[in-house]
Amino acid sequence: NRVWYLAARPSGFPSESDFELREEAVPQPGPGEVLVRNDVMSVDPAMRGRMNDVPSYMPPWQIGAPLDGGAVGTVVASDSPDVKVGDSVLHGLGWREYVVLDAARVRVVDTAAAPASAYLGVLGMPGLTAYAGLLDVARMRPDETVFVSGAAGAVGSLAGQIARLRGARVVIGSAGSPEKVRYLTEELGFDAAFNYRDGDIRGQLKRLAPDGIDVYFDNVGGEQLEAALFRMNLHGRIAVCGMISQYNTPDATGIRNLTLLISKRLTMQGFLVLDHWSRREAFQEEMTGWLREGRVTVAETFVDGIDKAVEAFQGLLRGANLGKMVVRLSDA
Ligand code: NDP
Repeated sequence: NRVWYLAARPSGFPSESDFELREEAVPQPGPGEVLVRNDVMSVDPAMRGRMNDVPSYMPPWQIGAPLDGGAVGTVVASDSPDVKVGDSVLHGLGWREYVVLDAARVRVVDTAAAPASAYLGVLGMPGLTAYAGLLDVARMRPDETVFVSGAAGAVGSLAGQIARLRGARVVIGSAGSPEKVRYLTEELGFDAAFNYRDGDIRGQLKRLAPDGIDVYFDNVGGEQLEAALFRMNLHGRIAVCGMISQYNTPDATGIRNLTLLISKRLTMQGFLVLDHWSRREAFQEEMTGWLREGRVTVAETFVDGIDKAVEAFQGLLRGANLGKMVVRLSDA
């Protein structure tokens, strides 16, 4: 049973030596517990935050302790009446091949209805983040113009598609390569997209949104947030989901021109998906319907093998993923 541990805390971009892969015995379940073989695990930008020793909404990972994060696996032994051998379960102890959990800490998912990876992406935490951020936090209304940064990622690709399905007039996205930009307009139905690495972000956004932006779904912060402030319409709303451009630059100076919030009467609100759990059922029902009707395109990037998990995480932070980055641990 291979398990990833935190070996050191990075100050900038995380390196391979900050992690250690250890070989351990497969644990055995006690009363009320299940043994799960992990089939897929998630790597998330928020895990970069958990490498820092600062208090946050999720406890920091500890040096010398195993990592954790979302995963879906198959129950291979069970000492609980509630969960059967063969069930697929979603839980929070990824970064390892086998894990024993209290049966109350797993949720059985239907892998006949959707593949295991969907519960880490389109039907899981990133999907709910996109849904709640766009509809509840930014309160997007039909006929509005929406800008989504990080639009080719897990959350962004869904935020843009939900905006379109919920009647946005124009949906604009940004991403970090020409292939991703093409993917947004040709496959995901964005009306327009630009590559932020081409520079002149303010100019590019102005050309694509000549009539301004009503809703900005921010995944990246920094320069793109500043450019969006200049383009926002009066009474526009900014849902601050993430600021990935700042995560590996501890001394980032932050953004300028916040006075635009005042003159334009903007609302800018940070949010955490964990405060929106009550929306899970509504979200899953609507998203399941869209998937069934073929109206949502699921983007996923797979990396194979537990030994490649750190590479997958580093790749995520560099933009190697299209859609949800998933590490596949078994062929199940
Ligand atoms: P993604 O699938 O979007 O992967 C991260 C992407 O970030 C990369 O693919 C890369 O794409 C982009 N990126 C990396 N560095 C930069 C940079 N300097 N500037 C702009 N883009 C960059 O991850 P998620 O969908 O899981 O997360 C997206 C955002 O949402 C993150 O900020 C995350 O922290 C946040 N989040 C917040 C939640 C909440 O509850 N508030 C819950 C889940 C996620 P590219 O090639 O385009 O650069």
